[in-house]
Amino acid sequence: MVSINEWRTGGEPAFAEHARSHVATLDKSGRVWLTYGMPVLVVGSIALDHIKTPVAEHRHLLGGSASYAAVAASFFGPVQLVGVVGHDFPKAHTALFESRSIDLEGLEVADGETFAWTGEYELNMNNRRTLSVALNVFEHFAPKLPEAYRDTPYVLLGNIAPSLQKSVRAQVRNPKFVVADTMDLWIGMARADLVELIKEIDMLILNDSEARQFTEEDNLIRAGRKIATMGPRYVAVKKGEHGCLLFGKEGEFFSTGAFPLDEIKDPTGAGDCFAGGVIGHLAQTGDISFPNLKEAIIQGTLVASFCVEEFSLRRLEKLSDGEIAARRKAFGSYIA
Ligand code: AMP
Repeated sequence: MVSINEWRTGGEPAFAEHARSHVATLDKSGRVWLTYGMPVLVVGSIALDHIKTPVAEHRHLLGGSASYAAVAASFFGPVQLVGVVGHDFPKAHTALFESRSIDLEGLEVADGETFAWTGEYELNMNNRRTLSVALNVFEHFAPKLPEAYRDTPYVLLGNIAPSLQKSVRAQVRNPKFVVADTMDLWIGMARADLVELIKEIDMLILNDSEARQFTEEDNLIRAGRKIATMGPRYVAVKKGEHGCLLFGKEGEFFSTGAFPLDEIKDPTGAGDCFAGGVIGHLAQTGDISFPNLKEAIIQGTLVASFCVEEFSLRRLEKLSDGEIAARRKAFGSYIA
């Protein structure tokens, strides 16, 4: 696939004229795709997941923060994926990325096995235990952005070690909006790196217990407001099935519920899909104003609601733009 930036500078005058609102990509069979919006760069983990829920157990699933986020963002525009896999990474998983026209120039295939994560959910699926983590090729991963990715305006630093997120942030030139996701592990293990990272980004995403852990504040509103003074322009605090809170440095505030679902098969990746939907919507619209950020939060919430209906990326594989639009319409009618 020709990278988006190479194509953009390829001297096509009609295209250059509309470069702010259209992006052209070529797929492997030589077809040109003209899409609205600017590209999104996604970095994070690409994993083989082994997941057990109270009703089923599946092994060797496509997982990882970047896999979920990249596929989620691809519903809104072109995506560039940065990550590492091993020689055991199934071709079917790569084919799934390709079927969503995700640019894989930044996907490294290293000598070794793919990062593997094993998790188990309790009957109340808000409770998850990590049973094992095999870093494998991730252990020596040093992301190096292809030159064509370094001017990408919208960046999602998916959940990985903050030092790796920092390294990717440093390689991007003048991004318009950078979102970073994190987790309890890094707040505990790499707090200093995380504190430095969030000074370099526009939005931090974390869940309620992580916000409390990070700030040592029990009250979630105080916790969110406190993080917003630590660097990022905005902070999104996820509350699982209870939705999300958005805080701005200037005192802005927004709260939304989650899309109501009566059956959840596997919550894995919901947070990553949320982040992918948020950055995807911002890139698609090119609008980083607070009212549009609220809509981005809603779009992220909706993509995440599809993710949890099946294991791995199986639901997103079948998802259509029309289904997202229909859920958006329904969601609008649920809000007062
Ligand atoms: P989420 O459910 O949004 O928290 O994300 C789940 C995904 O995160 C799974 O597919 C895992 O492969 C991946 N994951 C689990 N632990 C880590 C970690 N320490 N670093 C990066 N990714 C991880």
